[in-house]
Amino acid sequence: MWSTRPRILIAEDEEPLVLLLRYNLEAEGCEVEVASRGDEAELMVRESTPDLLLLDWMLPSLSGIELCRRLRMRRETERLPIIMLTARGEEADRVRGLATGADDYITKPFSVPELLARVRALLRRAKPGESAEVLKFGDMELDRAQHRVRRGGRELRLGPTEFRLLEFLMSNPGRVFSREQLLDRVWGRDVYIDERTVDVHVGRLRRALGDTEPDPIRTVRGAGYSLDETYAA
Ligand code: CA
Repeated sequence: MWSTRPRILIAEDEEPLVLLLRYNLEAEGCEVEVASRGDEAELMVRESTPDLLLLDWMLPSLSGIELCRRLRMRRETERLPIIMLTARGEEADRVRGLATGADDYITKPFSVPELLARVRALLRRAKPGESAEVLKFGDMELDRAQHRVRRGGRELRLGPTEFRLLEFLMSNPGRVFSREQLLDRVWGRDVYIDERTVDVHVGRLRRALGDTEPDPIRTVRGAGYSLDETYAA
């Protein structure tokens, strides 16, 4: 998915949230570092600038908002992509947060797929060309920016979950994923859904791709699903 692994620094003091973010960002192919205090995060950024900073608003020793302000004042970090994390109720401070120079802002509790989508979007904006906007596989084309899928030039209608599922499979062609892995990576780890849900959406995706054409999705008995590499060959 990335030509180089993006380095992401998580500055957050809530351990369960750190674990959830780390797990999902690493699954996304990112290299993750963690700071649980504001001053620690500042030191880490000074030592080596990450590709993106996920910054909690309320941090011990140095608040996220003060750290953001300081980072924007230094030339080396004036353009560092920063996403602020904040608890509900701090919404009123949103304007202040953006004025301080955060690029994006997300309210807790958030959905992991949404956060990942924002991280991807911000990394793409910061480093155009790092992550392909259009994924291609055989006669299929998926345009991430326009949220469109074509097969053999014909536009397909996909629901949001089917789109994410196909996007994920097209980013990892040939690899077999279990239902559990697909739930983690497409739905996010904080949701608890029956694994059969995956089968339902794979079924819908197959129908949307066209029942009569060769099926690009391979069911691996006892293991899960993959995008069939022989299909694109
Ligand atoms: Ca906090």
